[in-house]
Amino acid sequence: MISEFNRNKIINVSCLDAETLAVHGILDDSIYSLELDFKVRIEGLQCFAVEGRWRRWTTPQCPEALKFLAQAEGFCLDKGIEDKIHKTIGRTACRHFANLFNESAYAVRETVKLLRWQQFQGGGGELSLRDFLAQDKGQRDADPVAAVAVTPAETPAPAAARPRPESSSRSPESNSESSFVIDLHVHTAPASPCASDSLETMIEEAKRIGLDGLCLTDHNYLWSADEIRKLRDQYEFPLFRANEIVTEQGDMLVFGFYEDVQGIIKLEELKNRVAAAGGFIVAAHPFRGFLTFGADDIGLTREKARAREMFRRVDGIETLNGKVTATENDLARNVAADLSLPATGGSDAHDKSTLGCYATAFTRPLKSETELLAALKSGEYKPVAFR
Ligand SMILES: [Zn+2]
Ligand SMILES: [Zn+2]
Repeated sequence: MISEFNRNKIINVSCLDAETLAVHGILDDSIYSLELDFKVRIEGLQCFAVEGRWRRWTTPQCPEALKFLAQAEGFCLDKGIEDKIHKTIGRTACRHFANLFNESAYAVRETVKLLRWQQFQGGGGELSLRDFLAQDKGQRDADPVAAVAVTPAETPAPAAARPRPESSSRSPESNSESSFVIDLHVHTAPASPCASDSLETMIEEAKRIGLDGLCLTDHNYLWSADEIRKLRDQYEFPLFRANEIVTEQGDMLVFGFYEDVQGIIKLEELKNRVAAAGGFIVAAHPFRGFLTFGADDIGLTREKARAREMFRRVDGIETLNGKVTATENDLARNVAADLSLPATGGSDAHDKSTLGCYATAFTRPLKSETELLAALKSGEYKPVAFR
């Protein structure tokens, strides 16, 4: 049984005065609840006084996101702003605020169209709104933020409200978002003996919570391409194959490498074989268990940590792993930064309850394992707390 997932998004735009719009947005779903307020100068569509509030959140980082909203101050909310919003707010603050911001920007542009029409009517124009928009289109494309003057006394405040209930699965707008979020570290039963939920269950859960894709990293297990293709089609959901291989220096997530490796292999040998296949190695949870009693107890400094031999043989480091402590993830993040290695995130979920707690946000949709591999090599992604 899949429990229902609901998301409601409401944006209200009102005229504060002749030059200014006030925007209030609410995003509320089964997991998160947040509000966004900002003002917009109608001429130039510049936003200012950006403020956010949480009603419900899941990680201690969520409230921290609010201060990064200030990065949107002065943004021009013209068409095409989505990408910039995702690259700033989406990356530093949180994707939920980015999502709400983009929806609000759309509502602002719709409102300005209405205002322009009202202005046109006031000037003696007699076109229907639809004809006005059709006629106006060419002109707007050339000059999308043409000045609009509003006299509030004469003009009722238009409100563009877009309630959008979204039942289950992925939100329809997620395709237009520039970030594409994949849980890069997932175990399933029976492929991983320690896992308890089947791949089918994990796919359904991934769709329910709004992930864009799953990458299977069952321990020393090779899924057949056919099997994965079938499930991909059946569930219409992006699935990718990788592998979590045990080496004498720790677990490695291996991408673009389809040899069946059993038992413990030497990292050096794995590195040679993966490199020959053109693959990519990410050190999984490199400090798992190291800091359970605190770094001081074992004398593990950041300098010593980054000097570990394994880091000379990997292409990336998993810096957000759902099965280790925050301190262990922090150390991994610091080491990745020190060594200029790309960082990934993954839940390491062995059942659906923790799927997607961490994931990796890519900058564009990925349709195949070849594309995933190329994206990993490009370094254009970042680990995210998702769920
Ligand atoms: Zn592992
Ligand atoms: Zn794992």
